[in-house]
Amino acid sequence: MSTAVSTAQMHSRVADFVGRPRKMFINGKWVEAASGKTFPSYNPATGEVMAQVAEGDREDINRAVKAARAAFETGAWPSMSASQRGRLIWKLGDLIEEHLEELAQLESLDNGKPLAVARVADVPLAADLFHYMAGWATKIEGNTIPFSPKYFAYTRREPIGVVGQIIPWNFPLLMAAWKLGPALATGCTVVLKPAEQTPLSALLLAELIAEAGFPAGVVNVVTGYGETAGAALAAHPDVDKIAFTGSTEVGKLIVQAAAGNLKKVTLELGGKSPNIVFADADISSTIAGASSAIFFNHGQCCCAGSRLYIEQSMFDKVVSGVADEAKKIKIGPGFDPDTSMGPLVSEEQLNRVCNYLESGFSEGAEAVVGGHKRAGSGYFVEPTVMVKTNPSMKVVREEIFGPVVCAMPFTDIDKLIAEANQSEYGLAGAVWTRDISKAHRVAEKLRAGTVWINCYNVFDASLPFGGYKQSGWGREMGHESLELYTEVKTVCAQL
Ligand code: ADP
Repeated sequence: MSTAVSTAQMHSRVADFVGRPRKMFINGKWVEAASGKTFPSYNPATGEVMAQVAEGDREDINRAVKAARAAFETGAWPSMSASQRGRLIWKLGDLIEEHLEELAQLESLDNGKPLAVARVADVPLAADLFHYMAGWATKIEGNTIPFSPKYFAYTRREPIGVVGQIIPWNFPLLMAAWKLGPALATGCTVVLKPAEQTPLSALLLAELIAEAGFPAGVVNVVTGYGETAGAALAAHPDVDKIAFTGSTEVGKLIVQAAAGNLKKVTLELGGKSPNIVFADADISSTIAGASSAIFFNHGQCCCAGSRLYIEQSMFDKVVSGVADEAKKIKIGPGFDPDTSMGPLVSEEQLNRVCNYLESGFSEGAEAVVGGHKRAGSGYFVEPTVMVKTNPSMKVVREEIFGPVVCAMPFTDIDKLIAEANQSEYGLAGAVWTRDISKAHRVAEKLRAGTVWINCYNVFDASLPFGGYKQSGWGREMGHESLELYTEVKTVCAQL
């Protein structure tokens, strides 16, 4: 099959989406960029331009923040009951389910991921997030604090205000859902900036937000580049909080930009997650789990299990098992039903992963399988298992964000824990063993926001996700995320 997708293969709404320049969503209206400029979104399976999208900049961010401020302070949104707010969020979840096919197709075309994966993972998880958060809208409560009979004191949890949300390209729709869900449940208003590589599904989501009946200005979507639109949003003096998911490097820029008005900041950043296999683990589920830990979404997951530590006696068996899994992966365009791994998202990302491969080889690492980009058009790279690495190599220390795992043997558990924690990141990790006590002991010792035991990449709207160390500030999902979208007000009255 050719890597180009014809419009006949697309849902009619998707064909329309890529057939006409897309506008931004500000104050409930579809508008062009103030500058009139557009930017291209590429099909990563071919490298060809797929759609043109309005190129928002500072002025568009200003317009969107103004709309979000007005919607926060006046009109239908602040006067709505929590129950009505919850119903709107629930309805949005329903609409995502109804439009699953269109959303999955857009996600596959824009990001490159297999359509089958977008259908069973990205879109249903996004719908589920809104359904979960809909229930929280009515359960955001304060306390009464009986510190003295002379006073009546209580706390209120109030929405933080206008929130800027900047999201990445690896799970474009799902990241929008993770961000929007708690903001809407708590009664905030939002300016969302999707990644420039993958702006399309957020724009379809905005259509569904309008269809659900959210008042104008509650959610605004400004498409554009990070250095311009994103930076303007992070620095904006009338934004009360910025929530960012992306690289640690940009996360640090966000913190600096936020300092101007000391807006609240939450960050979900990079990772270099240790995936630890003990000799007593169930071999077949471990091999399958270790493979999907790194190869799912082409390794473009901040929590990818990219450092695979295997107890010495099992090393060869697990490495060859993961290598066999890698050989079975069918690389191809996301729309091909046989594809199990699509292209990386962009040429920049392909070059980045290839540079890491070269760096590993030049420092003495070897590939048991893979190690190259695929010849021809599109941004395809082979799933790769590297051995003969050591902790000082860049491929072991830095986040590659591609389907490349470094497999390393260990013998001593204390040294292993020290090595696993020897990272500037602390997002996730996993342990594979039949010894449940050992599993929990290791889980306690790992300095990471999530530890999976005998599984990997298990996500649910109820499970908080976020990082220790330079993997971020705060948590996404679960009720922890709601607290980060509220301010606590203490009210104290003399009786
Ligand atoms: P990657 O390097 O994987 O593309 P980034 O961290 O650069 O990831 O991008 C994540 C998001 O951050 C995107 O929406 C991007 O547009 C945005 N972004 C990039 N640079 C900046 C910046 N200087 N200020 C604000 N947002 C930015």
